[in-house]
Amino acid sequence: AARAAREPRVIGADAPVPLDDGREVPYANLDYAASAPCLEAVHEAVTKALPYYSSVHRGAGYASQVTTDAYEKARETVRGFLGAWRRSAVVFTRNTTDAMNLLAHAVPPGTTVVVFETEHHATLLPWRRAVRLPAPATPAEAIDAADRALAAAPTGPRLLVVTAASNVTGELWPVRELANVARRHGARIAVDAAQLVPHRPIDMSALGVDYVAFSGHKLYAPFGAGVLAGRADWLRAAAPYLKGGGASAAVTGRGDTTRWAADAEQRHEAGTPNVLGVIALAAACDTLSAGWDARIEHEERLLARLRAGIASIPGVRELTLWGDRGPRVGIVSLLVDGWNARDVALTLSGEYGIGVRDGKFCAHPFVRHLLDTGGAGGCADGEGSAVRASFGIGTTDEHVDRLVGALARLASRGAHGARVASR
Ligand code: PMP
Repeated sequence: AARAAREPRVIGADAPVPLDDGREVPYANLDYAASAPCLEAVHEAVTKALPYYSSVHRGAGYASQVTTDAYEKARETVRGFLGAWRRSAVVFTRNTTDAMNLLAHAVPPGTTVVVFETEHHATLLPWRRAVRLPAPATPAEAIDAADRALAAAPTGPRLLVVTAASNVTGELWPVRELANVARRHGARIAVDAAQLVPHRPIDMSALGVDYVAFSGHKLYAPFGAGVLAGRADWLRAAAPYLKGGGASAAVTGRGDTTRWAADAEQRHEAGTPNVLGVIALAAACDTLSAGWDARIEHEERLLARLRAGIASIPGVRELTLWGDRGPRVGIVSLLVDGWNARDVALTLSGEYGIGVRDGKFCAHPFVRHLLDTGGAGGCADGEGSAVRASFGIGTTDEHVDRLVGALARLASRGAHGARVASR
């Protein structure tokens, strides 16, 4: 209760950063969608675990018992955080990419996978046999397209894969409705929740979602630990994702005969796991599981402030798939007329101490679609890139105002004012 009452705080929120002219300013980190800063509570949990850390499952010593306990408790914390069914598997992976590849590895042969082109590459690319759906013009069209694709799929297992919150536009996809569609067709649904879980609660069993993947480093815990949670049957039937210690229940002869662990987690977590990463990830889940209302209100207020600011600047355009329809998380991609995205990002950093990302955000087909349809024809960016600002816990009005002010000055400098630092 004490923790729930305490507002979560991130480490390094106001760390000084140098500008090009030698001055120092507090960092305005607007790059949370790439990796979020670490929560204080996560730091505390890892610090507490360090003196006793040991390899899990195999040792009889006290440290090994304590660490094994913490590692297995983390699974239950994640299960609760996701609202996963009691009997579903919670497999610790390296990140979302690893989790989606594990799922792709585990789908039964002959499974038809239906996926939108708008996905992050982690979710778009791993499938052997996929039906790729074009970017839908509205959420209703997304539901309709999934419905038709699943209806037309050949008999056999089917899996609909969708990102709950876009890492490019922050738009929330209609996961509940898509889960209903999947169920109607006897298909399963896997949700890339990498950008959802830092911003919104999720309840897999209430939504009827079969699989969820996410990364610790986007959830205010450091790198190297992620999760695939969901139905255990396909995972139990698949060959181990990695072959080695832990995945093998018994090895006989000279290693030519192996009985693999039947348990889905053991089977797919061969090798010494990232125990501290998992403890960090679970601490983040624990901290974030309370206080959603206040955080969502904070984020929506900042998002409205940022979007209104952007809309007021001639020459700065926001990229969205669905315009003002529907809810969003704190992620905004934009273009500045006369500038290429790299120069915008470098200037925001060098002159204003603002961290944003530029590029195609590992979603090339989606960004291409947004640029083709978003009236970006006049944009000088020949690279087909955009600038992305993203935020969360620890972001302030000042950060947003600094970005809006800087963009206004960049836009008014126009093409001729664009610096050439990147060339
Ligand atoms: N899916 C989405 C929606 C993402 O934003 C990201 C990270 N940009 C990923 C998947 C991949 O995450 P990771 O790099 O941690 O594997």
